[in-house]
Amino acid sequence: MQNYSFDPDYLRDKYRQERDKRLREDGNDQYQEVSGDFSYFVDDPYIKNAIERQALTDSYEIVIIGGGFGGVLAASRLKEAGFSDFKIIEKGGNFGGTWYWNRYPGASCDIESYIYFPLLEETKFIPGKKYTNAPETLEYFDVISEKFGLKEHAIFQTEVNDVRWKDDERLWEINTNKGDKIKCNYVVHANGPLNRPKLPAINGINDYKGHTFHTSRWDYQYTGGSSKGNLSNLKDKRVAVIGTGATAVQCIPHLAESAKQLYVFQRTPSSIDERNNTETNEDWFLNQSPGWQGKRRENFEGFLTGNVSGKDLVNDGWTEVFRRILGAMLNNGPSRFRIFLWTLGSVFSKKLYTEGLRSYLQGKFMSHVGVKNLAKQVEMADFEKMEQIRARADSVVNDPETAESLKPYYRQFCKRPCFHDEYLSAFNNDNVELVDTDGKGVDTITEKGIIFNGKEYEVDCIIFATGFEVGTEYTRRCGYEIYGKNGLSVSKKWQDGLSTLHGMHANGFPNCFFFGPQQGAFTANYTHSLDEQSIHLSYILKKMKEDKLTYVEASKQAEADWVDTIIAKSRDMRDFRESCTPGYYNNEGKPNLEPQNNPYGGGPLEFFSMMNKWRKEGKLEGLELSGN
Ligand code: NDP
Repeated sequence: MQNYSFDPDYLRDKYRQERDKRLREDGNDQYQEVSGDFSYFVDDPYIKNAIERQALTDSYEIVIIGGGFGGVLAASRLKEAGFSDFKIIEKGGNFGGTWYWNRYPGASCDIESYIYFPLLEETKFIPGKKYTNAPETLEYFDVISEKFGLKEHAIFQTEVNDVRWKDDERLWEINTNKGDKIKCNYVVHANGPLNRPKLPAINGINDYKGHTFHTSRWDYQYTGGSSKGNLSNLKDKRVAVIGTGATAVQCIPHLAESAKQLYVFQRTPSSIDERNNTETNEDWFLNQSPGWQGKRRENFEGFLTGNVSGKDLVNDGWTEVFRRILGAMLNNGPSRFRIFLWTLGSVFSKKLYTEGLRSYLQGKFMSHVGVKNLAKQVEMADFEKMEQIRARADSVVNDPETAESLKPYYRQFCKRPCFHDEYLSAFNNDNVELVDTDGKGVDTITEKGIIFNGKEYEVDCIIFATGFEVGTEYTRRCGYEIYGKNGLSVSKKWQDGLSTLHGMHANGFPNCFFFGPQQGAFTANYTHSLDEQSIHLSYILKKMKEDKLTYVEASKQAEADWVDTIIAKSRDMRDFRESCTPGYYNNEGKPNLEPQNNPYGGGPLEFFSMMNKWRKEGKLEGLELSGN
């Protein structure tokens, strides 16, 4: 990549100004919950036949709540471990989770498919391209479901209302919107971190008389076409999109291609790097040695968390930043001898480059470069990367004013980086207008359209690409409350901060397993951590079965110790998060700085290896266990 010259002081100042423009007192409260008058925004547009059935009162050994990758992986690993008495409750009409809902045109995954699709070695599925899309991902859910026989375990079109521990029976009772009272020994909450769509609470949002929907409930009856585009019904329609995050970036090129007129209302531009998608080379894929996927996932996660060693197998926009930072360290820090050792270690990776040698070298590196200096190197590498992103807007977009508006002025990981080869060029179409609200967002919605800066944009349809709830309460996001021992709700338990063992167990909530990044691993490749959690879950339940145990609960002490570990390991991200332009990564400009609410600060690979060791010890340490 070419070098870009820049003035760091100018950029620091500019980033600060851009952040300040967007900081707002109301933080997460600027958003409208999709309930009450707005609940139609979460109706399921994909169900062809609504299921009418009697309420269920059955009992099962295990119930998994959620049929996305978390739930499907949990079920697959449990099947592998010999369990069959379980159900998966899913509110959608099929498996897929986020991929079931997000079928908007152009919906794709920006993590490499060879590491994002779990269980590839088991299913023998070959993804068509390096980066997959929504239709192939939904197809892959069918492949997994077929392989592990999961359909017979599904209870679709069913939403959980609440989950209650019955002390006297030592069972969970799950109440649903279909009147079910399902009982189970164990309950697994795989409800997905980004599942509740949100709307901006814009004045007049209820007054609009045209058509409207959220991107996660795409209305193909209205637009025509499919996930692949060709939205033919829009050819005589004026369409507005509110939002320019990762979702909008993927659907806007298709809207630009099909709509008569498209207005894109932008508050903050996304960082748009190249995609360069490629077809899968089947020979290469089929010639991988056993265990390749795990190694590739680890390699990717290693690059993203600074454990850079060996070849960059995924070698894409995600890992590039870290290679650059390492490059900066090498150029500025150590002697040629150390570089030689580093390179040697990398070349021989597993054989010679043992953990000891690596940490010795890294220790030497850190002491040589110095932590403060390192932070500066990282900042410089980040500035340079973002200069490249901004230069790309200039080189692709014809109108210089529009190109300027599309340039992001913040550090790369303040917001989810995007990768797309047709987004920026869509703004060269005559029918597309970028309405840059310069950090303010739109003022008002009227009966006919949207007002910004005194001008009314009349449109036939408003599409909200405004994302999902992240910083709100756990139970509001998952849509149901969990009542543990003595009726204690999980909302009450966590009201002053998260408290778990390994992110998965909570004292007071026996036989209950939480999936997600809370106090556990935080990975860009989310299916990696879901798979690790599924392996952990099935190990615990299998071991309990072997030991004739039926009750498991995190001990108070183990939970307190884990919270201490989370706090001790917590990285001080205050400066970084506070300096970022607001978004869901920093809780809309009000970063949650309580160290206890962080994921495990040692990084995902350290966390996975710790869990692996815990399993190998075979003691189920920290868990209180008993039989009937
Ligand atoms: P985001 O939360 O990332 O984006 C929401 C957008 O709405 C932002 O551009 C936001 O602006 C804008 N917005 C909010 N309120 C207003 C307003 N009042 N006026 C104008 N604009 C407004 O949601 P997405 O659905 O785009 O993405 C959510 C997440 O889903 C991603 O971060 C990613 O984790 C995941 N995803 C993953 C993909 C993948 O490839 N794996 C693809 C797509 C999504 P502002 O930035 O100023 O807040």
